[in-house]
Amino acid sequence: MGGAGEKWKKSKPSKYSVEGGELVRKGTECPNCGPGVFMGEHSDRKVCGKCGHSITGDSE
Ligand SMILES: [Zn+2]
Repeated sequence: MGGAGEKWKKSKPSKYSVEGGELVRKGTECPNCGPGVFMGEHSDRKVCGKCGHSITGDSE
């Protein structure tokens, strides 16, 4: 009885947030890989974990 509920207790990185019923994307998308691929944020640059593309500074 009541054995369910602990199935999806994994902590997913929330790159999306839902605000007012709309999906808001967080983070920077990789210009190489396209939408859906986000870049890892470092102190002064962003690096794509997929293709390795890196952006320094704040472009756009
Ligand atoms: Zn990429």
